[in-house]
Amino acid sequence: MTKLQERKSGQDTSRGSSWDAVLPGYRMSAAAALLEHRSCEDGRCAACGQPMPCPPACNAELILEL
Ligand SMILES: [Zn+2]
Repeated sequence: MTKLQERKSGQDTSRGSSWDAVLPGYRMSAAAALLEHRSCEDGRCAACGQPMPCPPACNAELILEL
């Protein structure tokens, strides 16, 4: 019965715990990407040089809204 007890005390696997497990990591890298991909004075991204909002910044904002 130890396995059942582990299930109860551990993460609930019926609610997509794999997503819950990776989401904090995604959020951290998204936050780091947002810090890097900021617009500089000419309206372009300081990190990748694309017009703002650049794709990496858009993706990061989407992830942070999850
Ligand atoms: Zn960028």
